[in-house]
Amino acid sequence: MKLTLFGAAGDVTGTAYYIESQTASVLVDCGIFQGNKSIELKNRKAPPVNYRNLDAILLTHAHLDHCGRLPVVIKAGYSGPIYATPATIEIASLVLRDAFKIQTSDFEKMNRMLLRNGKIPVEPPYQQEDMERAIQLMQPLPYHQDFMVAPGITVNVDEAGHILGSGSLLVRVVEAERSRSVLFSGDIGPYGMPIVRDPESFSEADVVIMESTYGDRDHKPLQETLDETSNIIKESVKSQGKILVPSFAIGRTQDMLYYLGHAFLRGEIPLFPVYIDSPMAIEATKIYMRHPELFDEEMKEFSKTGELLKYENFIHPTPSPEESRKLNDLKGCCMIIAGSGMCNAGRIRHHLRHNLWNPTTSVLIIGYQAEGTLGRQLVDGAKWVRIFGERIIVRAQIHKLGGFSAHAGQSDLLRWFNHLAPCRPRVILTHGEDRARIPLAKIIEYDYGIKPWLPQYGESTEL
Ligand SMILES: [Zn+2]
Repeated sequence: MKLTLFGAAGDVTGTAYYIESQTASVLVDCGIFQGNKSIELKNRKAPPVNYRNLDAILLTHAHLDHCGRLPVVIKAGYSGPIYATPATIEIASLVLRDAFKIQTSDFEKMNRMLLRNGKIPVEPPYQQEDMERAIQLMQPLPYHQDFMVAPGITVNVDEAGHILGSGSLLVRVVEAERSRSVLFSGDIGPYGMPIVRDPESFSEADVVIMESTYGDRDHKPLQETLDETSNIIKESVKSQGKILVPSFAIGRTQDMLYYLGHAFLRGEIPLFPVYIDSPMAIEATKIYMRHPELFDEEMKEFSKTGELLKYENFIHPTPSPEESRKLNDLKGCCMIIAGSGMCNAGRIRHHLRHNLWNPTTSVLIIGYQAEGTLGRQLVDGAKWVRIFGERIIVRAQIHKLGGFSAHAGQSDLLRWFNHLAPCRPRVILTHGEDRARIPLAKIIEYDYGIKPWLPQYGESTEL
């Protein structure tokens, strides 16, 4: 019985973990690598496994860094089942179709340039039929049931509390007389996040493959961040300024709508118009509303009372480009939530271009901003930025709000692990840079006397 790590080993993207027994093999997640151009070149290749023998693929959740290479795997010859929770199937379908659209436009642009340079155009890593086939192969995986996915391999999914449909996977592998339980944490959400349930606790596993994205630190307390947000909104209503929120379409956008709904309801902030200017965020919000069975108690209560509908008139989806453009002419205070989360693409760039010069504009940075992105420049205090070739002065107020993360901070990761520690599992820390996973490894070793393994890309271990 063997585990090999083909991604998210020493970094946070490209998750793909491969389990082999004498009778079967399974791939857990199949995500894209994200970062600079040379890192993203790795996305042209499927994880190096024998796809004719692979029995199943399992998904922990629908973020692209966990499912984005599925079409490449199909192109490489895989035609078996892809198991995921029903909500993950819906969100992954949305995410994969959107990624294909972006790939098409990127390759068209690049190939036009290559042709102008007298060079040969390049083929994209996969075609539309590969992407659609990946979606067709998805099969629902129920929560809290032992489910046979391959000969001698069963999986049981519990809530991971990260985004709608996310799960931690307890994979049981039986080989000859031996049985091993291998727990894949997936991305673990912070406790107390709105809408989705808290991560569930496990009390038994032989091996734990645990994420460590924020293994080195805790986030700012959520309440502090909510108070800060309310104050910014009140100021903007007074100054009649616009509030721009670069946001990831799945998870962060719905959380923000939830907080606004609550704050409206309690009278903490005055009612003002909120625009969801992202077709993907609008679709993702509809998927969220189709799965009330996955809501936490607070959200169930909130949606049952009908209170949500009270402020529905103040939330405006703007799916079409024309509706989006009209937002430029709006006068007065409003909030515009648009992608992309790091401002390196999407409609938010148009809104930033039109509004960054204005000192009454507020930009709420609610997610991680990678090196080299426009969002990072703003966070770092750039006085000028370049958007669509135009030099724009930054007079807007840039607010970095730390408490909205969809990932557990260090204390929450340890809280999750604490339930497992008594059974003394072997611990493998993945999905974290070394600066985050080394401090977490040290704490686990010091507090529990278990020395975690910190694997690198392509490394294997006997289970
Ligand atoms: Zn994720």
